[in-house]
Amino acid sequence: MNFCAFAARIAFVAAFSLGALAIAAPRASAAEPISLLIDCSKIPTQNIAITRETIPVKPGAMTLYYPEWIPGEHAAVGPIFNVAALVIKANGQTIPWRREATNMFAFDLTVPAGATSMEVDFTYLGATTGRYSSARLGSSNMYVITWNQNLFYPSTGTIQDTIIKPTMILPGSNWQFATAVTGAKRAGNTVTWDDTSLEHLIDSPLDAGINFHRWDIWSDGAAHAYLNVIGDQPQDVDVSSDVVGHYGKLVREMIAMYGARHWRNYNFLLTVSDVIPGEGIEHHESSDDGGRADYLTNPVALERGADLLSHEFNHSWDGKYRMPAGLYPSNLNTAYDDYLLWVYEGMTQYYGDVMSFRDGLREQKYFPDHIAAIYAHYDNQPGRLWRSLGDTATSGPFLYYAPFGYGLERRGVDFYAEGELLWLKVDSIIRDKTNDKMSLDDFSRAFFGGQNTGPDVVTYTRADVVAGLNKLVPYDWDGFFTKWVDDIAVHPPDGFSDEGYKLVYTDQPSHDVPRNNFVYSLGLAVGQDGTIGDVAFGSPAFKADLGINQKIVAVNGREFSPDLLYQAVKNAKGTTQPITLLVERTLDYRTVTIDYHGGPRYPHLVRQDGMPDRLMEVPKPRT
Ligand SMILES: [Zn+2]
Repeated sequence: MNFCAFAARIAFVAAFSLGALAIAAPRASAAEPISLLIDCSKIPTQNIAITRETIPVKPGAMTLYYPEWIPGEHAAVGPIFNVAALVIKANGQTIPWRREATNMFAFDLTVPAGATSMEVDFTYLGATTGRYSSARLGSSNMYVITWNQNLFYPSTGTIQDTIIKPTMILPGSNWQFATAVTGAKRAGNTVTWDDTSLEHLIDSPLDAGINFHRWDIWSDGAAHAYLNVIGDQPQDVDVSSDVVGHYGKLVREMIAMYGARHWRNYNFLLTVSDVIPGEGIEHHESSDDGGRADYLTNPVALERGADLLSHEFNHSWDGKYRMPAGLYPSNLNTAYDDYLLWVYEGMTQYYGDVMSFRDGLREQKYFPDHIAAIYAHYDNQPGRLWRSLGDTATSGPFLYYAPFGYGLERRGVDFYAEGELLWLKVDSIIRDKTNDKMSLDDFSRAFFGGQNTGPDVVTYTRADVVAGLNKLVPYDWDGFFTKWVDDIAVHPPDGFSDEGYKLVYTDQPSHDVPRNNFVYSLGLAVGQDGTIGDVAFGSPAFKADLGINQKIVAVNGREFSPDLLYQAVKNAKGTTQPITLLVERTLDYRTVTIDYHGGPRYPHLVRQDGMPDRLMEVPKPRT
């Protein structure tokens, strides 16, 4: 997953367990498929998808499950609240079902004597809510099918040996689609695919739309990588060849680094829409990506979100092919162990960003500003004094859904961006110990590359990561991860200090930290309208008794604006005059004074004379 909201937060701040799932006897026949028909014809008008499943069964008691723990989302987020009109029948008779009182995703029923199959009908309500895939179904001219939302599966077998025969009804003849499910055959508005495992089906979402453009951006023999873009309007998918070229280079850069791929064909599935919210969910042979309508046509928007596709693409190697053992499911209703997300998501955050420089979507000269902004954010985060980076990963199942307010004290899914710093530090150590002959890329090639394969899974543990690094460069890697991941670390890993750089604060904003960022001065994150998003515990703003869920309405007696607050911070420098704020909390107003005289402060990395500039080796392209 790409925690796009993280970038938003940085901008804001800077601006069941079933236990063991009851696996009963194997299904009557592992080869006998479940027929899955999803009627999408009502999505453009009513935002509902209608499912009919025909499931081979044997008479007797059984349980149907609605998927709860969703791969790539790392949490129990199956949108069961959107399941409606559930009717189960066999031999033309309705079968009563009972939801288990302590497991709301499990439905118990009894298959009548003589029945060999049953029909499961239900409607998926696109009453979208929350974050990630639950927030996306469709608009009047596009939709995204995340198959786990549109099916039940029986308590027999695994998702690897449960076989599905998928069929979909499209809304009209002018609708096009893309998915990594193979063998598509279209007759009118009905599409069928090859039989596929439940595991691969849910790993292969489908995007469909009217405004649809597909580019073949890379090929090697029979293998292709495609960029599929679906937009609100035709002009949103009218993408320049220059932009498309950067994505071709992204694929070449990834192949050059890993030396092998673990996909047959790869499909980027990208919605560009102001109706359907953004997204970034990884899969073996595709990614479910979403940006705003102008994502590909506005250079500022593209530069800001340039790591979206590179991040999700990297997961095909790191997260999908090589998968933490605790995250590899045999069913979709057993809790995950998210601890190793500091590898899965942390290193992917690193490469997602690094590749956005190597593929040319971002300019290499801004790499130091990018690293400085991340480092400063975590170094000024008081929550790191009580919670380890590893605990943020273990807490992933709820931290993805935590409120943003007081995030500096709570901490969030920090294993992404602090993970980036962690792996930059590993890169720095490898370069240092090998006299610049090797880098993290060599570990990645050895650990995630190997030979070309299809969408296979090879699991790993923390010990495997340590052993893989030791094979490359002998070092106390176990102690290193204990220090930076498992223990409380006052500062984040500084992968730039041995690479010829030092972090300083000046009164000049940077490419990545804008002028109206007050975190490094007042310890305050405030929105355009004065709403306080966060206050760093111990900061001048905290000492002035400011908190979240309130709004600054005036600065030194004048109506609030971010520019006015900036001027107030600037003017208070070197004086004894406090900054006076009028603050509204619901119907109450109060005046607070902030006694701060240090002026505006922004983080930068500056070169250290006499030391090799290793940092700028990182964003250099290989192709
Ligand atoms: Zn991710």
